Amino acid sequence: MNPVRVRFAPSPTGALHIGGVRTALYNYLLAKKTGGTFILRIEDTDQTRYVPGAEEYIMEALQWCGILPAEGPGIGGDYGPYRQSERKDMYGQYAQQLVDNAYAYYAFDTAEELSAIRAEYESRKEIFRYDSSTRTSLKNSLTLSEDEVKQRLESGVPYTIRIKIPKDEEISFDDLVRGRVTFSSNEVDDKIMLKGDGMPTYHLANIVDDHFMKISHVIRGEEWLSSTPHHVYLYRFLGWEDSMPQFAHLPLILKPTGKGKLGKRDGAKFGFPVFPLSWKGASEEDSFEGFREFGFDPEAVLNFLAFLGWNPGTEQEIFSLDELAEAFSIERIGKSGAKFDYEKAKWYNQQYLMAKTGQELAETVKPLLANKGYQAEDTYLAKVCELLKERIGLLPEILEQGYYFFEAVKAYDEKTIRKRWQPERVTLFNQLADQIRDTQPYISAELENTIKSFINNSGLKFGEVLPILRIAISGTMQGPSVFDMIEVLGQREVDSRLRTAYSSFDTIKSMN
Ligand code: GLU
Repeated sequence: MNPVRVRFAPSPTGALHIGGVRTALYNYLLAKKTGGTFILRIEDTDQTRYVPGAEEYIMEALQWCGILPAEGPGIGGDYGPYRQSERKDMYGQYAQQLVDNAYAYYAFDTAEELSAIRAEYESRKEIFRYDSSTRTSLKNSLTLSEDEVKQRLESGVPYTIRIKIPKDEEISFDDLVRGRVTFSSNEVDDKIMLKGDGMPTYHLANIVDDHFMKISHVIRGEEWLSSTPHHVYLYRFLGWEDSMPQFAHLPLILKPTGKGKLGKRDGAKFGFPVFPLSWKGASEEDSFEGFREFGFDPEAVLNFLAFLGWNPGTEQEIFSLDELAEAFSIERIGKSGAKFDYEKAKWYNQQYLMAKTGQELAETVKPLLANKGYQAEDTYLAKVCELLKERIGLLPEILEQGYYFFEAVKAYDEKTIRKRWQPERVTLFNQLADQIRDTQPYISAELENTIKSFINNSGLKFGEVLPILRIAISGTMQGPSVFDMIEVLGQREVDSRLRTAYSSFDTIKSMN
């Protein structure tokens, strides 16, 4: 068996969709599982679709997720360069070889001529395809005389080179996900291999590179399935069929509801990210927030993505990257589309948050503090994170749900106060505040003792005291243990919050 060499081959045409990250991940997992090599190749031969910054985005996204290529642009490797624009001089000879062996031909039809033909077909409600049924009536080296062809080539008339797909054949390949896939060659068009500007198309460059980079498996999205017959023909025509990679076409990622593929605009529509990182496009419509900016942990994102189209065949859902690599197998990739489930993404994230220490979480929250105008000591922040981590799905929610750890309470839960606050108990509650203030050491367990024995001695019920304390220090009935909150907020802060709150409660109570 040849060593496993897999590649992720994005085109830098904009931000990398989360489906692309899943493709990269599956390639990475197979390489890691088999001791193989994961390669990044940038497919930038289409100059018209090139978007500045997209390549950097791809690299940063892979870095953020922690799926790092062993070979690629800026990384090196024995099969470089890994950017197709830097390899452009090597493709022409293979297009020529195809022509010389009668597997391809020169086509001289101009763009205007082709669009006129297309329009004519459309007017008859038909679709035009350049293929074995139409090429004999078009302007190419199969229909023009040898002299005419020669003359055109010599005079520098622009031309393309098209692959000559045989008529009436079956073309099959074994897909590791879908099994044997067969197309009729009559459905396969004569795609352009070399463009008028001398640049190869994706199809030619992709096959030449996969061949010379010794790629063993092509793992890519389902949208490339219909291009695969062309690719198989190319391997055959170039004499490389013996070492053709194995194909695995991944299932589509579907919208959470309704039909169809999860598109880049679905994020804005449904209110969740569909890109790993934020992207600033030319327009507002083309700018997106990423999983990173939403506050996702990259490991949780990978775990979630791994399950969009694959499953381990067991009940286990939480997998580290190493565990995923261990468990991964192409055989367990599904054929049918996988629905993108944002709630599940958050569930994964929450599992990862809970497994981290407050200190680890604080490192990630720290850069977000300034945006909100908050300041906090590292140890304080770590304690807050520890306290709230089980109550949130996304880390930035700590600063929203738990804002009262960083600034004064903005509003008290009026409904509860109206129901539970008895102004005549203020003396009692001030005595409780005194006892809380004087508790030594000022830690949760000790505070709990103080408060509970106060309640027992006062003849009040727990439900008449604890909610009052909770709302006085946080404004809300939701939150972690009140004793823990008191400890973290600290003696001075709690004391001042309690005293201010009681008079505010009187005001709330007196309003209707
Ligand atoms: N450049 C193609 C893309 O953008 C690569 C497809 C493939 O993996 O063959 O997805």
